[in-house]
Amino acid sequence: MSEAPENRTPNMKTCGYCGHESPDQALNCCECGEAFRKETAPDSRLSPKEWLNQPVSATVKGYFVCGAWGMVILATLALKPAYLLTAPAFPLGLLALFPNGESKAVIGWITGIPLFIGWGIYGLLFWTISRTSKKGTFFLIYLILCAILALNIAGCKRSLDAAARIQ
Ligand SMILES: [Zn+2]
Repeated sequence: MSEAPENRTPNMKTCGYCGHESPDQALNCCECGEAFRKETAPDSRLSPKEWLNQPVSATVKGYFVCGAWGMVILATLALKPAYLLTAPAFPLGLLALFPNGESKAVIGWITGIPLFIGWGIYGLLFWTISRTSKKGTFFLIYLILCAILALNIAGCKRSLDAAARIQ
């Protein structure tokens, strides 16, 4: 019966500087003190400029844009669910923000031209977003989109409230 000692330590790493072996969990070489480099720690800190220049994926862009429209639907439901029926006329809300805008919105609804311009603006924004590849550009245009959507909802509420008063 042999009693081989079980105190072997298989997890040793070799110093790249002096060749001495140190325990795997050592941060520095036991012999010369040279620091062991961690394989799993690349410099993950990015400067804001580097972050803004990072690519943005189509999936991320899709989530953000869907989120913005989801908020529009939720806001409309919170105001009055029946307002969802006026969804095709949604961009007319932007017109209602101008002085005397409520009547302009009504004229816009009849002629249809401001409606095309309004949806055209949204179409242009989506087209621009689909073309952006950097985070910085995407979030800038996305903020503009959110601001326009918020103004649009405010205008819609204004003109629909005015319409409710007339009836
Ligand atoms: Zn060493």
